[in-house]
Amino acid sequence: MFVLDSHCDTPSQIMRLRDLGKDNPLAQVDFPKLHAGGVDASFFALYTPASLSMEDATHHATDMLNRLQECLRAHSDSVILATDPDELEINKKQGLVSILIGMENGSPIQQSIPLLQYFFRQGVRYLTLTHNGDNALADSAAEGTRWGGLSPFGREVVREMNRLGMIVDLAHASDKTFYDCLEVSETPVVSTHSCCRALAGHRRNMSDEMLRALRDQGGVIQINFYPVFLSDSFAKTYSRIEDEVDAAENRFIAAPSDMEAVQGWHRMQEKLLAMDRPSYRDVVDHIDHAVSVAGIDHVGIGSDFDGITVAPKGLEDVSKIGVIFEEMRRRGYAEDEIAKVAGGNFLRVFSEVKRLSRAG
Ligand SMILES: [Zn+2]
Repeated sequence: MFVLDSHCDTPSQIMRLRDLGKDNPLAQVDFPKLHAGGVDASFFALYTPASLSMEDATHHATDMLNRLQECLRAHSDSVILATDPDELEINKKQGLVSILIGMENGSPIQQSIPLLQYFFRQGVRYLTLTHNGDNALADSAAEGTRWGGLSPFGREVVREMNRLGMIVDLAHASDKTFYDCLEVSETPVVSTHSCCRALAGHRRNMSDEMLRALRDQGGVIQINFYPVFLSDSFAKTYSRIEDEVDAAENRFIAAPSDMEAVQGWHRMQEKLLAMDRPSYRDVVDHIDHAVSVAGIDHVGIGSDFDGITVAPKGLEDVSKIGVIFEEMRRRGYAEDEIAKVAGGNFLRVFSEVKRLSRAG
C-alpha cells in the first residue's frame, strides 16, 4: 500500500521557525511523524492568504519555496523532493518520504502564464486555483461574486496546466468554478482537501452532484480532517471561539520567535485539543459517503494538517494516520480498496495528468 496525503500546510510552519527534523510534540506534521505514520508521499502547500496583493503573494510563495527546498536538502537522509509520479515508489524503496509541492491560491502567478511555468519548473505539481477569496483566476467558495466561476485568464491557466502536467485542484473553489473547470480541463481534476456536504453543510464541502461529476471526469476527492468540515455541530461550537483562536495564531505568525506569542499559541492548541470534537471515525464517515456516491476509485485523503487549528480525536497528528485504514478494515473494506483510498486513486490521477501533458 502506498500512503499519500494530498494536502498539508507544513511550509507555513517552516516560516514559523519549526524544525521539521525534530519530533515536536505540538506539530501536526514533521519528518519523524511522517515516517512513524507510514506516509510515503505528502504534498506540501505553498499557501498565500487571499488578503495579500498579487506581488506580495509572489514574494511570499517564492520565499516559502526557497526555505522548503533548503529544509528538504538539510534532511536528505529522511525526505526527498519529488516531482514525478514515477519517482515515488523508488523513493519509498530507499526509505525516503517523497515531499511534493502544491500551491494553494493562484495569486502568486499574478496574471502571468510565464510565472505559472516558473513555479512548475520549481516543482509545483498542483495549483489550488483560489483560497478564501476570489482572485484573478476564479471565484472561491468563500465569496463567489467576481467572475461567476472561472475568469478568462483562469481558463488560459487551466489549459496551460493541462499542457504542463500540473493538477487542477478545486478545493476552495465556488461551485460554479468547479463546473467550469470540469468543462475546460482535458485532464481529471481533484479536490485535495474537502469533505461531503451531505454530512456537513459547510460551503467548502462538495455536494453529491459535484461528487458524481468528479467521478464522470475521472477525478478524486481527498477527504479533509478538519473537524469544522466534518460536523455541523462542531462548526457551531467552534464559531464561538474562532476569533480568539485566530487572534492567538496571528500573534504567533507575526512574531514566531516571541516567547509570549509562542506560548499563547501553545496554550490555545492545548485548549483546542481538550474540546469535545469529531474523531477519526467521522473522517471515515465522509470517506464512506464519498465512496457510496462517487465510487471507490474516486476518494482519497488530504489531511490539511498544519492548516487546521484543531484535529480530530485519535488523529491529532500525521503519525496516527493509520487509524483511518484500521477503521476502514473494521467497516469491511478489502485491502485493495483501502490501498486506493490511501493513495492509489490520487496516484492514478497524477500519472494521467502527466501522460496527457506535453511531457507525457
Ligand atoms: Zn485549504
